[in-house]
Amino acid sequence: MSQFYMPVKIVSGRGCVLAQSTLFSGFGKKAMIVSGRNSAKRNGSEADVLEALKKEKIEALVYDRIESNPTIESCYEAAEYAKAQKVDFLVAIGGGSPMDAAKAIALLARQDIPKDRLFSGNYEKKRLPMVFIPTTAGTGSEVTQYSILTNHEAKTKSGLATEVIFPDLAFLDGRYTESLSLVTTIHTAVDALSHSAEGMISTRANCLSDLFAKDSIERITRCIPALLQAKDGGEGIDEQVREELLLASMMAGVVIAQTGTTVVHGMGYSLTYFKEIDHGRANGLLLGHYLELIEERKPELSQKVVAAMGLKEASEVTEILQRLLGEGDCLSKEEVLQYAKVAFLSKNMNNCQVKPTEEEIVGLYEKGLQCREGLVI
Ligand code: NAP
Ligand code: FE
Repeated sequence: MSQFYMPVKIVSGRGCVLAQSTLFSGFGKKAMIVSGRNSAKRNGSEADVLEALKKEKIEALVYDRIESNPTIESCYEAAEYAKAQKVDFLVAIGGGSPMDAAKAIALLARQDIPKDRLFSGNYEKKRLPMVFIPTTAGTGSEVTQYSILTNHEAKTKSGLATEVIFPDLAFLDGRYTESLSLVTTIHTAVDALSHSAEGMISTRANCLSDLFAKDSIERITRCIPALLQAKDGGEGIDEQVREELLLASMMAGVVIAQTGTTVVHGMGYSLTYFKEIDHGRANGLLLGHYLELIEERKPELSQKVVAAMGLKEASEVTEILQRLLGEGDCLSKEEVLQYAKVAFLSKNMNNCQVKPTEEEIVGLYEKGLQCREGLVI
């Protein structure tokens, strides 16, 4: 049995927010813009949204207090603000952090969910309408039903997953990603690559999700030479590459909306929670090594990803990721054992066709983070 569901209207192209401003008017008369502190003000996205809302005679409030890797607490706080201000809908602008936060805020503004039931999956179908404008090309959150939040109680990142929180509308304009630093560009592109790759090797992959995964992997692969060149001090990233990455990231989001992610994301969450390693980087340090493990057990599976990248062996994927990400991360043995336990028990394990043992997860961390006894970053 398989299924494919994608309820988000996607509008893309340069200048699309202003050109299609009438689309906002279907959601109400008072909007709350949900963003991080700075980037939306610098890359022109907030200004475009404010102008579009003004054109449609919609009142706008700016809530720019979302931190990277948003916490459960900040979502409850923002939802209280949305309720107090009686906003009709949310416009999330930014990377995965403001977009994921907005999904939780939309839900919490319309129903009372105690913190201990937030990840239960048991919600009413009530939420604020949501318009999403991604300004990183990585998470694909604009087309997923996931909200990944920092959960201090569980000491990891936990995912809210429900069809109720699929956004209603997404605007994709590559211009907003032009101000991204090279490091964030690479880390987020690697997150998107990881989504499509993990989608292809998931127990929930199907022929439709594979279509999106293959196409997005091919697009990202075509952008890799430009990323490597920029990293080696060459030219900056041009407009066409920016647009390609944004499209590929959205498609990779469509993939994980069907398939979920695997142990790679399950392992990455501890690296972000405890070590503050960027989400995309955390996945990229592990992805190639997991594909190499799959190659030993089920080569036809890893081959789907390897071939989509135009390569022959999983080790070549590892090599490319190492060139993109560089070195510099390390964990102590104690940390590796602790994180492996968390990853082994994560829900993401259910999506793995090739399920690693806890010892193998230890091995993956050790390979990805060049761990040596007693060494801490
Ligand atoms: P992010 O945490 O949203 O943003 C990272 C940094 O980039 C922030 O400092 C942000 O600044 C800045 N930034 C954003 N857009 C920019 C631009 N156009 N120019 C310059 N700087 C910009 O990073 P992300 O990698 O996109 O998102 C990571 C989060 O998404 C994690 O919490 C992860 O768990 C989650 N995630 C969710 C899904 C999903 O399906 N929902 C999938 C994968 C990952 P400001 O704070 O000033 O905006
Ligand atoms: Fe991700």
